[in-house]
Amino acid sequence: MSSSNGRNQTEKIANLHGKTWILGEPELIDSNKENGAGQNWSQEHYVIEDAVRAILTNVGEDPDREGLALTPHRVAKMYDEILAGYEMDPVEIVNGALFDVEYDEMILVKDIEFFSMCEHHMLPFYGRTHVAYIPGDKIIGLSKIPRIVDMFARRLQVQERMTRQIADLIEEVLNPQGVAVVVEGSHMCSMMRGVKKEHPRMVTSTMLGSFKKNPMTRNEFMQHLRQPRASLL
Ligand SMILES: [Zn+2]
Repeated sequence: MSSSNGRNQTEKIANLHGKTWILGEPELIDSNKENGAGQNWSQEHYVIEDAVRAILTNVGEDPDREGLALTPHRVAKMYDEILAGYEMDPVEIVNGALFDVEYDEMILVKDIEFFSMCEHHMLPFYGRTHVAYIPGDKIIGLSKIPRIVDMFARRLQVQERMTRQIADLIEEVLNPQGVAVVVEGSHMCSMMRGVKKEHPRMVTSTMLGSFKKNPMTRNEFMQHLRQPRASLL
């Protein structure tokens, strides 16, 4: 692909550690400053960069044009964040946040926003998660439940498995009387394809213990979910 700015582009591109970079990009400057073009930049990052470059070439793009030259680098860096869940340690998340309490009513954390990646297409799916449990003899700090959701969301996922994993971890950690998890997700892989104007959300749920055994408990939970969000302000 030739362009009028071809020469300009060549002037701005430098070859650094065997990789081609456009100089002056803030992201490049940052990563170089800290680690001299990359002690934190692992072999895996380079492999991802090469793979993204191969995709760009094979969809008919010019991976060296100005807008794309740093795209492999950006994508590799972005995966560190949006797929960070593999590196998160559930023990560390939960540590120090379990409390002994005599309380055996339902605890519900509603509308936990999540962003995940569908493992079939590597496109985002996102939405809300609702988590409820009835304690055994322990409760968990409120802020930890969104972190548990985040840990499982930031992976390549299918929504059904993510729902189950959240419930299973809470069950394992808290040994509660019951756990319920409902996930409502919008999937870009179905939204972006075809010409459908309507984009139904997918709803998945896992009910364990008393939520599974007792229809009244389950109904109470579902009733809570149907209530519109109340504004406190
Ligand atoms: Zn998909």
